Amino acid sequence: MLNCNNYKLETIIKMGKMFEKYVKLLKENSIKVTPQRLEILKYLDEHRIHPTADQIYTGLKEKNPSLSKTTVYNSLEILIEHSIIQSLTICSSELRYDFKHAMHHHFLCRKCGKITDIDIECPNLGKMLESGHNIEEVHGYFKGICKECMKKGSG
Ligand SMILES: [Zn+2]
Ligand SMILES: [Zn+2]
Repeated sequence: MLNCNNYKLETIIKMGKMFEKYVKLLKENSIKVTPQRLEILKYLDEHRIHPTADQIYTGLKEKNPSLSKTTVYNSLEILIEHSIIQSLTICSSELRYDFKHAMHHHFLCRKCGKITDIDIECPNLGKMLESGHNIEEVHGYFKGICKECMKKGSG
């Protein structure tokens, strides 16, 4: 069984400047820096498609043959715990992952399955803040047919 402890610090340093931003993120949150966590963060940052854990795994597997699904799941878990990424339950069948943690809503196209970021303010947030509760997450899920699918459908 391979695990992240098999990687030497040297390997991480060799990953170089490309990962500097993500190393910083992990360190700021006192999370141990491992090549897998860096790869997953980078993947999510570069693929703002709200991928599933499977998509992330498949996307990284080729370059990282030793990567296991368990590692992907565990890394995602840790990153979520520290609010570096967020998980969306917009699809009832599977969790989707999002690099961007700042509050925003999501639109799911029922036809092509694409999830788009919707940057609108939640009108209820002000009221919730007045209530004195400490709000850490706000999720708004919109579902329907995206404009691309609408165009295809009518053509
Ligand atoms: Zn669509
Ligand atoms: Zn998003």
